[in-house]
Amino acid sequence: MVKELVENSIDAGADEILVELEAGGRKLIRIGDNGCGMDRQDAFLSLERHATSKISQAEDLFALKTLGFRGEALASIASVSRFRLRSCATEDGLGQEILVEGGKVRKAQEVGMARGTLIEARNLFYNLPARRKFLRREQTELGHCADVVTKQALAHPEISFRLLHNGRPMLELRREKSLAERVSALLGRSLLAEMLSLDQCDEVAAMRLHGLIGQPALNRSASSHIYTFINGRYIRDRVVQHSIMHGYRHLLLKGRFPVVVLFLEIAADKVDVNVHPTKHEVRFREQSLVHDFISASLQQKLKSASWVQPADQKCSPAEARPDLGEVSGLRETRAAGEQAVSVHEPEPPTYHRLPEKEDGPAPRATMQAVEPILQMGSVPESLPVDQPGKRRFFSGLRYLGQYHNSYLLCQDADDLLLIDQHAAHERIGYERLKESFRKEKVVQQSLLFPAVLELDFRSAQALEEHLQDLALLGFDVEPFGGKSYALKAVPQLLAGTDSAQLIIDIALELEQTGSGDALEEKLDEVLILMACHSVIRANQALDPREARALLEQLDGVDFNANCPHGRPVTHRLHLSEIERMFKRQ
Ligand code: ADP
Ligand code: MG
Repeated sequence: MVKELVENSIDAGADEILVELEAGGRKLIRIGDNGCGMDRQDAFLSLERHATSKISQAEDLFALKTLGFRGEALASIASVSRFRLRSCATEDGLGQEILVEGGKVRKAQEVGMARGTLIEARNLFYNLPARRKFLRREQTELGHCADVVTKQALAHPEISFRLLHNGRPMLELRREKSLAERVSALLGRSLLAEMLSLDQCDEVAAMRLHGLIGQPALNRSASSHIYTFINGRYIRDRVVQHSIMHGYRHLLLKGRFPVVVLFLEIAADKVDVNVHPTKHEVRFREQSLVHDFISASLQQKLKSASWVQPADQKCSPAEARPDLGEVSGLRETRAAGEQAVSVHEPEPPTYHRLPEKEDGPAPRATMQAVEPILQMGSVPESLPVDQPGKRRFFSGLRYLGQYHNSYLLCQDADDLLLIDQHAAHERIGYERLKESFRKEKVVQQSLLFPAVLELDFRSAQALEEHLQDLALLGFDVEPFGGKSYALKAVPQLLAGTDSAQLIIDIALELEQTGSGDALEEKLDEVLILMACHSVIRANQALDPREARALLEQLDGVDFNANCPHGRPVTHRLHLSEIERMFKRQ
């Protein structure tokens, strides 16, 4: 409903739109605009089904310039709410007010008002209890509404948007001259600093792609920051999505998504936007042409920018530990004259030094990633309490060597045991975190300089609701005004990793798993994510001492055969299988 009503205001040429909600919209949705308004006759007509002012001749159907055209929204909304429409199409300060209940006009009168329209829907579905039951929790519905406003606001920087919830301002966006200013206001200034503007035309195919694209280091764990619009309409289309990921290929790690706000302009007869009116999908006449145009445009822009490095170079073993200067999407704001906010915690040097051992080989850079957990290993209380003495299975194995910088080869009696080092380490990290969390003994480490996180509305909302859970885990996150948060302390386990990025990921995860989940489940997800952030990766050379340390740590946790993501940690090859391979049996 919010989407339909905001679209109507945009179609009416408004440059000021106010969205007011109560109880997530359940109690009240009110949208006011300063658009063209309606006279008395049109005001009544607008409530009729299939009445629209947006099509005057048949050809209009094939060249839609407006967001609406079906003429159904007002009629539908008025039939399921206590509805009020006020509109004025002149400058004489006199408008019409119509009150509707359950689809029936109850009252109509003149009211004093400025040019524009105000539409109010109270007690949604009051007459359809079965539908009302399907409304979500207040915060969830509010999130959806804020999403709608966010998307429209990105497409229309020239319109000022305000969103109030229970009288409190949630979004306040003034009129802007450019997309960049709107992105900065909506998604954060620091984020804008890491984006490039793009404007490409394909004269032959009559297509234009323009907007802002994030540099690869600015990435997210979900595709929620890929905002795409076709001819001004927000869409979430598979072909478009794929073409964007294709444009970023080799630049992003698996499972990471870029931040983009992109507008595709294409001749109206080359795209059908009516395939799924609610699902945001479209059908292109020449699908592959569009796909290739988008990905080529992105590639070209990304290539020409000086900061691009191939992803594999970035993740070379020596840098497997997230490099704070590189990976974070929240580097210092760079615009001159702005207050520089450092978002990176300084790393106490002790956290990256190996425990000194005379006989061991000199510590190497690759060891750094293993470090925090190796240190944990030396803390006896981090071992599961109910473990009767230390198991010696993994440490008792004969270590043969490392294969492909990813697998440890070990011999167990006659069998060959392959161990996925990344999965193993994730398992260890996860079990340890779970254990220390269970015992509420997460040791916290304060950051010398708090990291400032700028989030979008929904992430901020999700984070806000879980500040206490995060505190239990050892994160001290505090509101820092608006949608910003200050990260002041992190679990000691994670010192030296990119915790700012981790919190952003956690917020996204919390946002997407929704609200129904049990707290436990959420914490578990967070622990998995934390474990994932703190571990050694595949493709990292381990020397025998490091490999043995890993095996020993495997004995220290309540072992489960899979990594927390469900991938197996070990694979056993029996001697007989190997003999069969060589036809010795
Ligand atoms: P549609 O947008 O598909 O035409 P709606 O039911 O949403 O159908 O609206 C019906 C008509 O009411 C519109 O065609 C338009 O003429 C008028 N209308 C609706 N909202 C507004 C508004 N905010 N300002 C001016 N006119 C409006
Ligand atoms: Mg409409």
